Amino acid sequence: MPELFTVVSTDEAFERLRAHLAWTVRPAEVPLGLALGRTLARDVIAGEPLPPFARSAMDGYAVRARDTLGASESSPVYLRLAGEAEMGSIPAFSVAPGTCARIHTGAALPAGADAVVMVEETNLVGAAEVEVSASVAPGEDVIQLGEDVVAGERALEAGRRLRPVDIGALAALGVVDVPVAQMPRVAVLSTGDELVAPGERTRPGEIRDVNGPMLCAMLERAGAAARHHGIVPDDEERLVEAARAALDASDALVVTAGSSVSARDVTARALACLGSPGILLHGIAVKPGKPTIVACCDGKPVFGLPGNPVSAAVVAWRLLLPTVRLLLGETVPHGGLAPAPRTARLTQNVPSRSGREDFVAVRLVQADDGEVLAEPAFAKSNLVFSLSRTDGLVRVPRDSGGLRAGERAEVFTW
Ligand code: AMP
Ligand code: MG
Repeated sequence: MPELFTVVSTDEAFERLRAHLAWTVRPAEVPLGLALGRTLARDVIAGEPLPPFARSAMDGYAVRARDTLGASESSPVYLRLAGEAEMGSIPAFSVAPGTCARIHTGAALPAGADAVVMVEETNLVGAAEVEVSASVAPGEDVIQLGEDVVAGERALEAGRRLRPVDIGALAALGVVDVPVAQMPRVAVLSTGDELVAPGERTRPGEIRDVNGPMLCAMLERAGAAARHHGIVPDDEERLVEAARAALDASDALVVTAGSSVSARDVTARALACLGSPGILLHGIAVKPGKPTIVACCDGKPVFGLPGNPVSAAVVAWRLLLPTVRLLLGETVPHGGLAPAPRTARLTQNVPSRSGREDFVAVRLVQADDGEVLAEPAFAKSNLVFSLSRTDGLVRVPRDSGGLRAGERAEVFTW
């Protein structure tokens, strides 16, 4: 069988593709309630300061800090109660020297006041006098106007994937029509004479298409609008036809299987005629996933992924999903790999060969002492349940000869 002679590193594969993409983010507007998980298409500039007025951070009394100078439990000061700062309006009165105002957390500070004494440090004497038994500095327990956000400031930057806390931030600014990146349309094609759709009856020798639905799900979660364009037999002409139609209707294309170099593998030949410059590389230094094709056809990314579901999942996760993030206008680090969300201690050695990036699926288990352990699930790469029964991937970097039991490893959870 012919070999893939010129494999390139995963980082290099991603950067070659990035260099060829011709892409500008398409903006769309979605209501705030649908913005979670979308990517901002442009900066959000604060139209007003936050908070828009000085607010109390405590329940207590708004005071002039100078009036409390030297106050203590043994020598309190007495201030006349000038009124109450109501929630939801700006007080109509002001705090003159020697006076104070009752205030609640979040209420606007009356004019004249510059600090708040918390209620625990005070005593109401009669109806209109307050005993203050602590000295406060100017600004104490006050949230200043603009302390959170200054008017005109870039409050949220383009390319940010919106999290629940960002939805809250947008709400605070009154941004209810959120400028997000349109979801890149990614077409997925499954190939192989042995494949049938998951809803169909299999005859002997046939298997259900795992990669089509799995890759679409991975893409959707990454923020793409994925569409499965069906199953194509191992036939170059039919694959070219299907791939061309799928790519015409999309911003990117993923073909799974037939990506190696045997006579039955037609994916490379088919992808070569979809546009220029065409195939950028065939073969990457990763295990599993070596028989991978990366192409750029008239500015659009095109991938030929291995057919083995484990390999397909690893390469999709390693190269395809970062590409989706590029199409969304997100900042993607060199090589495409974002930092691992967590680490865990390996229970077994993970061997590897230097010069190749390795991934091993792991199960995470909590040890009795609370530490999280990563149990490698070494398996043949054709077994989808070797993925489904695991929590994520451990990565052995390219320059490493392997990881030892007891070492902490980066874990990328599914
Ligand atoms: P190939 O890349 O065509 O050599 O396929 C490698 C292995 O993956 C073969 O055992 C295929 O049957 C299997 N395979 C290919 N495509 C799929 C798919 N979409 N779902 C599940 N298994 C697949
Ligand atoms: Mg095949």
